[in-house]
Amino acid sequence: MAKVLVEVSARHIHLTQENVNKLFGEGHQLKPMRPLSQPGMFAAEETVQLSTPKAAIENVRVLGPVRNYTQVEISKTEAIRFGLEPPVRDSEEINLDATAGIKVIGPKGELNLEKGVIIAWRHIHVSNTQALELRLRDGQLVKVKIEGERAITFENVLVRVRPNFSLAVHLDTDEGNAAGIKGSVIGELIV
Ligand SMILES: [Zn+2]
Repeated sequence: MAKVLVEVSARHIHLTQENVNKLFGEGHQLKPMRPLSQPGMFAAEETVQLSTPKAAIENVRVLGPVRNYTQVEISKTEAIRFGLEPPVRDSEEINLDATAGIKVIGPKGELNLEKGVIIAWRHIHVSNTQALELRLRDGQLVKVKIEGERAITFENVLVRVRPNFSLAVHLDTDEGNAAGIKGSVIGELIV
């Protein structure tokens, strides 16, 4: 059984440069605050407010670098609070039809997104080398077992293989709380 790093991703937003300009000012560049486990990815200093007629959540972290699509990832608990029904979807799926909309408020402007809100499908990042070692292929579904007081095995964990990925499972806060994870833990990969 292979050991894997399991990390919990809190709510966040990925932005296009065009939308960075609208929220933070023309030509604004995201400022990296903290690197993430995947090479090149970072939590930015910038945050936004997410708002619906039912609720608003402040200090939602922007993740960088900018992408060619704008996407908001929240948990089911947050979706209920917002009065939204976003689908559980692979966060790399660029077709955002049939996802939920939301208002995004920044210091210099706001966006009324008609779509782009999802609940991220739990997944595992794997490099090509690790995929060979672990006999994993892109798009496969595996299980990840978490030990402890709230021990649980997550099924349907989507495998993502890219040359520059680093081995890590990504859960959302609902999943992390269900498993009693504080920060990150080591889980067991079950293929
Ligand atoms: Zn991820």
